[in-house]
Amino acid sequence: MIEQTLVLIKPDGVLRGIIGNIITRFENAGLKIVASKMQWIDKDFSKKHYSEHLEKAFYSGLETYITAGPVMAMVLEGNDVIEVVRKMVGSTEPKTALPGTIRGDYAHISTKHANENKKSVCNLIHASSNIQDASREIMLWFDPRDMYTYKRSGDEWME
Ligand code: GDP
Ligand code: MG
Repeated sequence: MIEQTLVLIKPDGVLRGIIGNIITRFENAGLKIVASKMQWIDKDFSKKHYSEHLEKAFYSGLETYITAGPVMAMVLEGNDVIEVVRKMVGSTEPKTALPGTIRGDYAHISTKHANENKKSVCNLIHASSNIQDASREIMLWFDPRDMYTYKRSGDEWME
């Protein structure tokens, strides 16, 4: 089923200059970028985006991390894209993220926010985890007027 998902290249990805490497993976996989923008979010916006984690012990570290610099936000579209992108991203903890995943290939780096209780796991990227989250997150980040429908070459091979 054709779906859409929200992806954020988090501040560590932007500040390390690896936006292009990450986006290339999605393009190579045949996923379509239907919206994108750079945004430096504030604490209020972080609380909305991460509403499900507000009560968690790691939330304050997560908020510091996600507001530490701009993020590159995008909406990706494709067949079963929510699950496909989660697989490409890899598991939350970079140590256990498999080689070949984005976190497994780029996030094995010790950062000042990593591995302390109240700080956050710097793992480069956010991707919606299910269809409800995807639709809520896309509405939070993007105005429908800034999302585009277009055909990529190769789309004629898809059902
Ligand atoms: P994700 O969906 O794989 O990004 O993981 P979650 O939704 O569970 O958590 C959101 C983000 O919070 C993660 O990507 C990490 O940056 C951070 N995080 C998650 N779990 C922990 C944790 O146990 N400790 C710390 N310090 N940060 C965490
Ligand atoms: Mg999550």
